[in-house]
Amino acid sequence: MLQVNNLTKRYEKILAVDNISFEVKAGEIGVLLGPNGAGKSTTIKSIAGLLRFSGEILIDGSSIKTTQAKEVFGYVPESAAAYDYLTVWEHMEFIARAYRLGDGWQQHADHLLTRFELIDKKDKLGKELSKGMQQKISICCALLIKPRMAMFDEPMMGLDPKAIKELKSVLTELKNTGCTVLISTHIIDSIDEVWDRVLIMNRGRVVLSRTRTEVEDNAESLEQIFFAVTEGVAGA
Ligand code: ATP
Repeated sequence: MLQVNNLTKRYEKILAVDNISFEVKAGEIGVLLGPNGAGKSTTIKSIAGLLRFSGEILIDGSSIKTTQAKEVFGYVPESAAAYDYLTVWEHMEFIARAYRLGDGWQQHADHLLTRFELIDKKDKLGKELSKGMQQKISICCALLIKPRMAMFDEPMMGLDPKAIKELKSVLTELKNTGCTVLISTHIIDSIDEVWDRVLIMNRGRVVLSRTRTEVEDNAESLEQIFFAVTEGVAGA
């Protein structure tokens, strides 16, 4: 479970994230939606431990600042960048060593690289890969640790249709194993089939939080509520 309590982040004079609180439960796919500049990346980077912030962020009850939380957390950043001088396989090995993964990680790595069509590129260096391939490595690295919480920043960007299909299946599988998933995007169509909870951000605040059931019971679409909320027609 992810709990964000009173998260605030300021870049000098700009209040990028303004005292937001939200939860995504274990086995749930949460989606952070919002227009450009809403504060999504700042929120994601704070959760990933890349920014200093005020407030509290907990994964399965442990602060994101603890090793306990970091060990179970997989993160796919918006702009994936592979290490130039590591091969695809060495990326897997690097993660396996850093996270001290036990026996069997090689089979899991093989399986992931096959799913994302990187297995025939196993011996290629990071600098020899396309942007989309680097994005796929980043996804495989995040999944190799069998995360209890996985966060994806604009994950579909740059992926080919086969990889998008595969990633959607992976998201559902993660959810079914009780993993907490958080995705940030502004492309509503890309997550329409998979989300369970939507959090809409605008001007640094979470202006709406709804479950899929609540949205469907009101016969609304994500797109309708997105525009209603971000253009000020509806409240939270
Ligand atoms: P997008 O969809 O365009 O990626 P976003 O919702 O991810 O937008 P953020 O990148 O979190 O938005 O930006 C939130 C606010 O913080 C914006 O006003 C932005 O200009 C500001 N901001 C973001 N990063 C910095 C920074 N490093 N220094 C100063 N201001 C920043």
